[in-house]
Amino acid sequence: MIVSLREDADQQSVKQELAALGLWIAQVERSLGTGGIQLVVAAHSTVVDPRLVAQIAGVCSVSVPIPQHPQMDQQGPQVMVAGHAIGGSKVTLMCGPCSVESPEQIDAIAARLAPLGVSFLRGGAFKPRSSPYNFQGHGDPALAWMREAATKHGLRVVTEVLSEHDVSAVAELADLIQIGSRNMQNFALLKRVGRVGKPVLLKRAMSATMEEWLLAGEYLLHHGSSGVVLCERGIRSFDPSTRNLVDLTAVALLAHVHHLPVIVDPSHGTGRRDLILPLARAALAAGAAGVMIETHDDPGRALSDGPQALRGDELAAVLHALKQVSP
Ligand code: PEP
Ligand code: MN
Repeated sequence: MIVSLREDADQQSVKQELAALGLWIAQVERSLGTGGIQLVVAAHSTVVDPRLVAQIAGVCSVSVPIPQHPQMDQQGPQVMVAGHAIGGSKVTLMCGPCSVESPEQIDAIAARLAPLGVSFLRGGAFKPRSSPYNFQGHGDPALAWMREAATKHGLRVVTEVLSEHDVSAVAELADLIQIGSRNMQNFALLKRVGRVGKPVLLKRAMSATMEEWLLAGEYLLHHGSSGVVLCERGIRSFDPSTRNLVDLTAVALLAHVHHLPVIVDPSHGTGRRDLILPLARAALAAGAAGVMIETHDDPGRALSDGPQALRGDELAAVLHALKQVSP
């Protein structure tokens, strides 16, 4: 925001009134056109209606930057997915295995998730793996196994689409289409997913800025997605003690300043099953609309991400403990 002062303005008193609104001045400049004084508001100031600023004595005009992601700014905190409001009054729980391994596995997991208040069955049919020698997912058949298990147990499906080639198949069977971290800025994929008009769970790339993340969401809405739910899944940090670093500052900023729905994934965020509960609690306290948590009946034999998977009984205990954190 740039605040232009009248010639007779008392710069100190304008600055004090701006500070009282939570606006801090990064720079004082002279306008190249009029020669008048301009106060450049620091980017980290509070979000304030420019009309309030224009009313301060001595202020001549206020200019605000052109919004870069107008549709994300307009979307609001709630996204409807197959009759469920993400960002509504209830915390949204998305649980399931990292990978869909077999029809029996996904059915058994879905059966025990349903009574725990879980709304979404998660699981990857197409897996983005760092090594080409690791399990890559069962593909199309896994989508069908997952849909069947979810429908049978009254759950919705959230699953990742890895390539443009699979968008139709995933869109047909998923309620919420997941774009994974590694694809957050795959613009061709974002456009293609947008065109199917379904809601999307957009995971943050490992080193994406907030602005890049919001712009990726803007791609989806611009091309037709019915809603974008953001997912904080941990960013790369300098410290290898945990797999990633869950950025709760981003969660608070999205929830309380941008008023957008954000789901936190403490499984990928920490990579450690013993940290899932504290991070999930912190996420809800920071304003998250829900959490995504990986579970497996036998984590030691999981085809992917075993170390971060909770067994069924452990997941039930975590979800029970989370009920005590009110959004
Ligand atoms: C996942 O949710 O299965 C996954 C691969 O997550 P991410 O894209 O956050 O690594
Ligand atoms: Mn995983």
